[in-house]
Amino acid sequence: MQEYKLPDPTPGDVMLVVSISQLVHMLTSTSELTQVIRAVENLPLFPIAMVLHCPQCHKQHIDSPTATWKNPPHRSHLCAHCGCVWRPADVPTTGVEAVTSRGRKDTWPLKSS
Ligand SMILES: [Zn+2]
Ligand SMILES: [Zn+2]
Repeated sequence: MQEYKLPDPTPGDVMLVVSISQLVHMLTSTSELTQVIRAVENLPLFPIAMVLHCPQCHKQHIDSPTATWKNPPHRSHLCAHCGCVWRPADVPTTGVEAVTSRGRKDTWPLKSS
């Protein structure tokens, strides 16, 4: 069975937005429609904010726009220190310095007293 996967955005890519009705007209069978619905249902609305570290050099990866990179949602990340490209999850993620919430029983990061 053929799976629908959205291509990874690469630097400079423009996001392609297709309306649902345009998409439905492109389909040729109800099984294709079912697959598209499943793919859309599994897409997060926003990239998931995560504390990311390069698996090769262990430096922290923080995503932010630069002069040449608009920081679109992406799944594979490029380490600015060693050039390693890796995918921490099968959904778009964004590397942040720290997450904004903390669990009551969390032991990391250490509480600043
Ligand atoms: Zn690295
Ligand atoms: Zn990244």
